[in-house]
Amino acid sequence: MYNIVIVAHPDDEIFWMGANMVARPEEHWHIVCVTYNAKSLRGREFRRICKRYKWTFHQLGFLDKGREQPILNNVKLVSTLYQELRMYKRRNLINHIYTHSHRGEYGHLQHRQIHQAVRTVVRSLKYRGPISYFQWDVTQGIVEPNQELLLPQHFKAKRKLAMLYSKSKEPDIERYPWWKQVLSYDQT
Ligand SMILES: [Zn+2]
Repeated sequence: MYNIVIVAHPDDEIFWMGANMVARPEEHWHIVCVTYNAKSLRGREFRRICKRYKWTFHQLGFLDKGREQPILNNVKLVSTLYQELRMYKRRNLINHIYTHSHRGEYGHLQHRQIHQAVRTVVRSLKYRGPISYFQWDVTQGIVEPNQELLLPQHFKAKRKLAMLYSKSKEPDIERYPWWKQVLSYDQT
């Protein structure tokens, strides 16, 4: 049985699910990353982290242009995600699906598009198992699923994972609330 984590960008899997994945290494994690492929630095970093933690993954290679948030091709997105999930559904291999929320957490357009696409796909596949959506809270920041069960060590490991992305070394990165929350864990 697989926990399937569907994210827009390399590093989303760490921000929204990292502590959970570290805390539950005995479970099978399959990460579907909609943008970037192995030809890009972010895509390669994503692969390296997945391999290191023995998470299976699939990079769909949709185009992203950094912070401009281009609109993803919805038809293509739905059909690609359908192909991806169909095999798992047919074989009854889905334990849980995790993906972006209808708000795109902090309003990210591509996160919102992926939420809608996943909703469409699970409806047509008649998947009735559990789905959890990522959560962003103005006061608490990122709230992971099962947050109450996670220990400080899991968050420390999560921060280390986030630091494996070279994006985390950009000088202005702390301007972004989701990074700040991961990076400043020790002070909280
Ligand atoms: Zn993202």
